Amino acid sequence: MNQPSLPTYDDVVQAANRIAGAANRTPVLTSRTVNEEFGAEVFFKCENMQRMGAFKFRGAYNALSKLGPEQRRAGVVAFSSGNHAQAIALSARLLGMPATIIMPKDAPAAKVAATQGYGGKVVFYDRYSEDRERIGRELADRHGLTLIPPYDHADVIAGQGTAAKELFEETGALDAFFVCLGGGGLLAGSALATRALAPRCALYGVEPEAGNDGQQSFRSGAIVHIDTPKTIADGAQTQHLGELTFPIIRRDVDDILTVSDEELVQCMRFFAERMKIVVEPTGCLGFAAARNMKDSLKGKRVGILVSGGNIDLARFASLVAG
Ligand SMILES: *Cc1c(COP(=O)(O)O)cnc(C)c1O
Repeated sequence: MNQPSLPTYDDVVQAANRIAGAANRTPVLTSRTVNEEFGAEVFFKCENMQRMGAFKFRGAYNALSKLGPEQRRAGVVAFSSGNHAQAIALSARLLGMPATIIMPKDAPAAKVAATQGYGGKVVFYDRYSEDRERIGRELADRHGLTLIPPYDHADVIAGQGTAAKELFEETGALDAFFVCLGGGGLLAGSALATRALAPRCALYGVEPEAGNDGQQSFRSGAIVHIDTPKTIADGAQTQHLGELTFPIIRRDVDDILTVSDEELVQCMRFFAERMKIVVEPTGCLGFAAARNMKDSLKGKRVGILVSGGNIDLARFASLVAG
């Protein structure tokens, strides 16, 4: 089998240079309440305050920045109902190229509107009868578009790694670091930055309990595929890790943990009430897992990646009130 060539920390450094000026250098927040609850020093890297509301802007902008003039003229295509779609649409607009986003017919109206608002052309498909990857490849072939996948792409992984790079630059080395896990772009990129800047830091990926394919893959040594999991963490409803993300995760991550939807809701409530920030369910994965093992974190310096804040306000209200 052909070994794909994996991105390195050097690619993360180059990505950081490419996105500087376009991406926000997001704040690192602390909370006395959390520090007291943990008996530790806890640092939250707040990508809910990134442009378009999630870290995905980093990878998308990095990948699109690397395209040549021909590819820019033809434009890009992505399939996603979530943050990747908005990240590609916004990055394409900023870089002056057309973007086509393939979304399920029943995608939330707010997400469709946000993607169109960033200038993306939305093409709908039926998620029960049509294969979005095939539609994407056909559009790419027919119109010469460049397909940008949401996580399994070296430039996307390198871009996502810039958030962890910024965190370590600000806090210095940490003892433990908790990162949300879907397809693994964020975790793989964070792993490259962690092993370069804080080699002894324990690095954990965190998934929803209902979709623990990453944990199964990590422990068995081969990529495990599952059905789309039922969880409120819609950014982590992926069915499998990637050909590029998995080997990096297997090599550089210490363990994969899981948390329940109820634990995510408790964290959303805490973030809103005590820290005054809106975090989407998927963005709470890292904090929820850290809370579950806080007894073993006493006296340590702990990083938590808060990945995004995109949630419909009515949905947010019903979850935190429930
Ligand atoms: C996409 C996403 C994730 C998961 O990222 P992967 O790179 O797919 O692992 C986590 N949180 C949010 C908010 C996301 O949009």
